[in-house]
Amino acid sequence: MSHPSRQNEPLSHQVEGAGRFAPSPSGDLHLGNLRTALLAWLFARSTGRRFLMRVEDLDRVREGSRERQLSDLTELGLDWDGDVVSQSHRLLHYDNAIARLRAAGLSYECFCTRREILKAASAPHAPQGAYPGTCRNLTPDERETRRSSGRPPALRLRAAVTSFAVDDLIHGSCSGLVDDFVLRRGDGTPAYNLAVVVDDADQGIDQVVRGDDLLSSAPRQAYLAGLLGLTAPTYAHVPLAVNEEGKRLAKRDGGVTLAELKALGRSPGQVLGILATSLGLAVQGEVVNLALLLDRFEPGRLPREPWVVRPSAP
Ligand code: GLU
Repeated sequence: MSHPSRQNEPLSHQVEGAGRFAPSPSGDLHLGNLRTALLAWLFARSTGRRFLMRVEDLDRVREGSRERQLSDLTELGLDWDGDVVSQSHRLLHYDNAIARLRAAGLSYECFCTRREILKAASAPHAPQGAYPGTCRNLTPDERETRRSSGRPPALRLRAAVTSFAVDDLIHGSCSGLVDDFVLRRGDGTPAYNLAVVVDDADQGIDQVVRGDDLLSSAPRQAYLAGLLGLTAPTYAHVPLAVNEEGKRLAKRDGGVTLAELKALGRSPGQVLGILATSLGLAVQGEVVNLALLLDRFEPGRLPREPWVVRPSAP
């Protein structure tokens, strides 16, 4: 795939490779998200890579989120190269990739409802979490019948494998499930797994640092990259933040967004300090800045366990 958008960029951007942070603008970033962003920045900057920002706004957009997320990251001192890319401006690129897969016979229409999928997938021997393949081998007649039911089909990948291995800087070599995942939803929206692969390649991203809740998506994405003739990036899936009950941190835990922490009297610098301490890059209460953290950053020494966030005292 060519990189037409990169040809006219200034020379300073023509460094090999890039990392990125790719938030969905579905709400404010909480401490876990901010920590992942910091890690993505540290991984990229410590390896001489550019650091790019991409807003994944194909669905779940909440008014004002994008602006607040970007300003929170800036307040922590994180910077990025070039303009922020929005997925909603890149629909043509996803269509092109889908057209190539279609032309190669690597996709098929799927008419299943969510309920049908759950039912079929819960049958004995069905691989956990995999699309059960209900629509994979419909005859032309069956397809016509289902088309005429009026329900717009999703488009799925016709995968030739059931698992694929990726290299992860934290988890090592990881083999995971690949199924006939959705490329384009019934409502016409390109699916996350498709968009992320197309975007990372188009943006020259060769290092993906993100929460380890997405580790199980990496084999699908790396496999798809290969089908599109793209090189899969290096991955680093970092531990998530959890609340005191061990559940994934959420905004409803309270006192976890930058705005909330500022309301509790914490400065952005102190929040950076909290994140740095959680990563073993600072001692509690220490005043830090990004240059210092970059200096101290050693990927091999990152905590492997989820970060337990305790409520902030006012
Ligand atoms: N947009 C996704 C999220 O906010 C991240 C996707 C990715 O990093 O690949 O969870």
